[in-house]
Amino acid sequence: MSGQFHGYTKISSYFGKRISPTSGASSSHSGIDIPAPPGSKFIAVHDGEITFTQFLGAGGYTITLSFNNFRVTYCHCDPNYIVKVGDTVKQGQVIGYVGPKNVYGVKGNIYFDENGKPTNGATTGPHLHLGIRIDGKYINPLDFF
Ligand SMILES: [Zn+2]
Repeated sequence: MSGQFHGYTKISSYFGKRISPTSGASSSHSGIDIPAPPGSKFIAVHDGEITFTQFLGAGGYTITLSFNNFRVTYCHCDPNYIVKVGDTVKQGQVIGYVGPKNVYGVKGNIYFDENGKPTNGATTGPHLHLGIRIDGKYINPLDFF
């Protein structure tokens, strides 16, 4: 996976059981977290189609890339999406940016930081959450790369 996230390859939270880092974040982690500054590019891990670009609860601003029976979910993205649902993308294509920790004006957002500011889903700081489902079941993304 080296280089795929433009140098940000350190993983702060692995797949599986963990102590929830922030209230509302899952204690069974359905992906991996890669800390990176807001604005860091991330890419399509495979040729596919964009099937979701919306704010999604704990995931914050989320993008889903679909191919075959795979669903790859990128969470805590920058709200200024550069792809839209129905776009066909190529492996390695930049499809989004890591979002800020705080986002404002999102209807129904129930996530806030210690200062009471609304956050980009259940997050303690800017990072990319990457989740991969095969036939609807989450797998360890590191098994995929
Ligand atoms: Zn995560």
